[in-house]
Amino acid sequence: MHWLAAACVTSVTPDFWTPGTLRGAIVRSLDFSSMKASQFFVSTLKEAPADAEIVSHKLMMRAGLIKRLGAGIYNYMPMGLRVIRKVEAVIREEMNRAGAIELLMPVVQPAELWQETGRFDKMGPELLRVKDRHQRDFIIQPTSEEAVTDIARQELRSYKQLPKNFYHIQTKFRDERRPRFGIMRGREFTMKDAYSFDRDEESAGRSYDAMFKAYIAIFDRLGLQYRAVAADTGAIGGDRSHEFQVIADTGEDAIVYCPNSDYAANIELAEALPLLTERGTAAEPLTKTPTPGKATCADVAELLGLPLQRTVKSLVVATDDLDEAGKVKKTTVWLLMVRGDHELNEVKASKIEGLKDGFRFATVAEIDAHFGCKPGYLGPIGLKQPVKVVVDRTVANMAGFVCGANDEDFHYTGANWGRDLPEPDVVADIRNVMEGDPSPDGKGPLAIQRGIEVGHVFYLGTKYSKAMNATYLDEKGKPQFMEMGCYGIGVTRLLGAAIEQNHDERGIIWPDAMAPFRVVLCPIGMDRSEAVRVEAGRLYQALQAQGVDVLLDDRGERPGAMFADWELIGVPHRVVISDRGLKEGKLEYQGRRDAQATSVALAEIDVFLKDKLGV
Ligand code: ATP
Ligand code: MG
Repeated sequence: MHWLAAACVTSVTPDFWTPGTLRGAIVRSLDFSSMKASQFFVSTLKEAPADAEIVSHKLMMRAGLIKRLGAGIYNYMPMGLRVIRKVEAVIREEMNRAGAIELLMPVVQPAELWQETGRFDKMGPELLRVKDRHQRDFIIQPTSEEAVTDIARQELRSYKQLPKNFYHIQTKFRDERRPRFGIMRGREFTMKDAYSFDRDEESAGRSYDAMFKAYIAIFDRLGLQYRAVAADTGAIGGDRSHEFQVIADTGEDAIVYCPNSDYAANIELAEALPLLTERGTAAEPLTKTPTPGKATCADVAELLGLPLQRTVKSLVVATDDLDEAGKVKKTTVWLLMVRGDHELNEVKASKIEGLKDGFRFATVAEIDAHFGCKPGYLGPIGLKQPVKVVVDRTVANMAGFVCGANDEDFHYTGANWGRDLPEPDVVADIRNVMEGDPSPDGKGPLAIQRGIEVGHVFYLGTKYSKAMNATYLDEKGKPQFMEMGCYGIGVTRLLGAAIEQNHDERGIIWPDAMAPFRVVLCPIGMDRSEAVRVEAGRLYQALQAQGVDVLLDDRGERPGAMFADWELIGVPHRVVISDRGLKEGKLEYQGRRDAQATSVALAEIDVFLKDKLGV
C-alpha cells in the first residue's frame, strides 16, 4: 500500500466519550484518558521470555508494556506507552518551567554535520550510518549536538537572543555493543535532550544550575529514589557534570558516596586517596621466589601466605604516535600498577600525560619484547626495553611488595622503590575507590551502591560551537563562540529503573506519577448484578470527573485472574465492587503496597479515594 494511503486512518469515538460521560471532566491530556479494559489492550504473560535477565525486563514483558521486535528494539505497547507519555509530561512541564523551549529535530540527519565535528569518523560502530538512494551518507541520531548547533549558528546571532535552551523528546539509536535489560539498554530508545546556549561561562553556569534543579524536580515528581553524582568531565574539564542515578542493586553503575556528607561521585571520578600516607622503610631483601602456575595476585598471595594488600598488579598498555599519513611512527609501552586488591580505573588513567589521546592493551609480542615474559609474571624490575611506569598513589608508598619477576613462574618479594628499582615515572590516582576508603572530603569512610543512570547534565563549553563555528555578536559587534551545555534524560530507561526500584513478587508497583492508570475498578460479576454495574459506572465517572485516570475492568475475568493482572501491571490503587459487599453497603480498597484490603463504606468511598489520591 502507498504510504499516504496507509496513513489515512478513520477516527472512531470510543463510547466513553459519549455526551454526558465526560461533561465537566478535567481531562488533563487525551493520552491519559480513562479507559474500559474491553476497549483498551491488556495482554499479560504468566512467564517471562528466557532472555529477560533482570526483574524490570521480565515484568515489563509479562505486563505487556513492551514487545521485542529485534535485539534492543522494542514495540512500546499501549500500556507501556501510557507510562512513557506520563514520564514525558512531567519532563515537559518541568523543562518548560525552567525556561527551556521545545522543538523537534530529525531522527535521520545528514552526515555532513557530523563530519564538521569529526564525530562521523570518531564515533565508531555505535553510530548507525545509512545511505540514501543517491548513496549519500546519513546517520540515525544517537544525540543531537550537531543538529541543534546548526540551528543555533543560523538563528542565534546576537547576544540579545541569549541565553536559549532548546530541547526535544525524540527517538535515539545507538548500536550498543551489548543491548540488554529490555529498554534499559536498548538500541532504539527515547531521550529528552536539551542544549543550552549562553554568551559566557558564567551565564552557562546558570543554565546548568537551572537544569540541575529541573532534574531534581522531575525525579522527585516521578517518585524515585535517586542521587545526583559528580561525573567525569573528560577533556572539557571543570566540575559541571552530574549523573542522576536511580538507586537499584541491579544498576550497571557504581556510585560512591559518603554517608556523613554530601559527597557523591560515580566510580570513574571518585578520588582514591593514598591508603599509605608515607612510604615504609625497606626491611626485607629482594627475593626471587618460585610461584609456578600462579599468575594472579590472589593466587600468589595465597601461595606465599601473604595478604593480598602486599601484592602489586601489573597492567601493560601501549600508545601509538602516528605520522601525517596515519602510520605508526613510534609505540610506547606503559606499565600501570595498582595494589593487588585494587582495580585499574581506565578513565583516570586516560588523564595522564601521554595516555590522553587513547591507549590500547599491549600485544603479546610487545609484552614479550619489553618484559621478556608472558602476562601473569610481569613487573617493573629487569625490563628488556624502556617502559613508562605509572603507579597508583598507594603503590608508590608501598615497601617490601610482591610483583612479577619478568620470568615465567617467578615473583619478587620484598621489592622496594629506589633500592631495587628506579622511582616510578608517574604517580597518580589510577584506581577505583573501594568501600571503606577515606572520603576525599575527609568526612569518613566511603560507601558504594549501585545505580542506573537516568539523566546526565554536562557543561560542554565551546567544544561544538568552535567545531561548527557557532558564534553570536556581542555588544561591540564582535563574534564570540557560544558556551553550551547538554542535558539528557533516558525516558524509556526510566521505566526499567522505576521497576527495578519498585516491585514485589506479584509484579510492578508504579509510583503514582508513572502508573499507566492510577486506579483500577474491579467489579465482580458485573454481568449478573445490576447493583455492581451501577456502582462501578458511577465510580468510573466520579473519578474521571476528578481528573483521575481510572480503568474499569469490564472484561468479565474471574477475580483471581483480574487481580493478578493489575498487580502485575502495577496499578497503585484498586477498588473491588462486589454484590456481596454492596449488600452490606461496602466496597474494598487496596493500595498496591498494602498487605490487606480495607473495607470502605459505600457512602464514604468518594471521600476516601479523594484522600488517597490527593485530588
Ligand atoms: P550509558 O553510560 O548508560 O551508556 P551514556 O552516558 O551513554 O549512558 P548519555 O549520552 O549521557 O548516556 O545519554 C543521556 C541518557 O540517555 C542517559 O543518562 C541514559 O538515561 C539514556 N541512555 C543512554 N543510552 C541508552 C540506551 N542504550 N538505552 C536506553 N537509554 C539510554
Ligand atoms: Mg552519561
